[in-house]
Amino acid sequence: MDAAATTPIGAEVLQGMLPFFTTDFGNAASLHTYGRAADAAVNKARRQIAKSIGAEPNEIYFTSGATEANNWIINGLVRNSESKRVIISAIEHPSIYELCLQLRTEGYEVDLIEVDQNGIVSMSDLVHKLSRPAALVSVMTANNEVGTVQYINTIANMCKKYGVPFHTDAAQALGSVHINVKDLHIDALSLSAHKIYGPKGIGALYISNDLNVERFVTGGHQERKRRGGTHNVPAIVGFGHAVEVTMRDSSINNARIKQLRDYMIREIESKIEHVHLNGHRMQRLPNNVNFSFSGISGEALLMTLDMDGIAVGTGSACASGSIDRSHALNAMGVAAELNRSAIRFSLSRSTTKEDIDYVVSKLQAIVKKLRPLSGVAVFKKEV
Ligand code: PMP
Repeated sequence: MDAAATTPIGAEVLQGMLPFFTTDFGNAASLHTYGRAADAAVNKARRQIAKSIGAEPNEIYFTSGATEANNWIINGLVRNSESKRVIISAIEHPSIYELCLQLRTEGYEVDLIEVDQNGIVSMSDLVHKLSRPAALVSVMTANNEVGTVQYINTIANMCKKYGVPFHTDAAQALGSVHINVKDLHIDALSLSAHKIYGPKGIGALYISNDLNVERFVTGGHQERKRRGGTHNVPAIVGFGHAVEVTMRDSSINNARIKQLRDYMIREIESKIEHVHLNGHRMQRLPNNVNFSFSGISGEALLMTLDMDGIAVGTGSACASGSIDRSHALNAMGVAAELNRSAIRFSLSRSTTKEDIDYVVSKLQAIVKKLRPLSGVAVFKKEV
């Protein structure tokens, strides 16, 4: 129930990676046969990834993940811009949100675009913010906590109209949301392999050939001299393969998972009192279910579910060790008490109806047990 945090490597993906740890171990920068074989494998993965988002292969730069890709694009555009101003949505992943808060302390101007109670970006606020020059706009395709999917096309078109580069973090969206960077006018986009049954520690940044972005890692010819360092060939191969499998199976998997998601939402709402669905009811990732269980802390719920073998997330996985309230739920106007009681369930391609029935039955029992102990009054949302 925590597939949004990470997924296991798919069996066929792992098989494809194995030779690159042993027999085909060459350095992709070497000119001899071993090196050229590794380089060919890296470039095959580059083509696989480019195809999945409608980009050119030479617009894909391998990184250690979406965190690095997000850091690269923000730093690369903002630090060298004349405007010293960045516009992001108020519900971005910490790899953008916290970086921007840091930039603010360094004197850069950071504007947060408002979202409505479902997490959808306000177009009027975006237009208002675009009326002054900015180095970039960054709005995630789909939110990692509540799964809300943005109207990326409209946002990107607006940025194009005002001549401001548009970046989107698609780490959670790849395979669930159809993305074509050329049709949608996306200038830069971040991806991560381990959300789609690929290895951890590998991701990519798509940078349009029309966009001028500073290099991120100096030293080395890799990634057209923009991100130096020996390629992690097995991981890159696994990433490319995982993307191909994800795209191949996406329509069947998504239709099935979406049905399970809606079943789970109905079951929780009909069997447990005082629950509040977070995020948009329809415009959300097929595998995301996020509820606040009023009167209970999310952490207490997480730990108790864990004892029954059920793994869930509170807010962003990266923040699940902390008891901070989610800035995303806050921006959506979710009351403090409900914010603290939010739990994210994220279904995987192996989740079954039986899994959901098990989770809902455990949830019912745990909520019944914990609520009287919490001492917090049950919060009733105003209608
Ligand atoms: N952006 C989003 C929306 C994410 O969900 C995540 C993963 N939690 C990241 C960025 C970071 O990705 P990575 O783990 O590849 O650094």
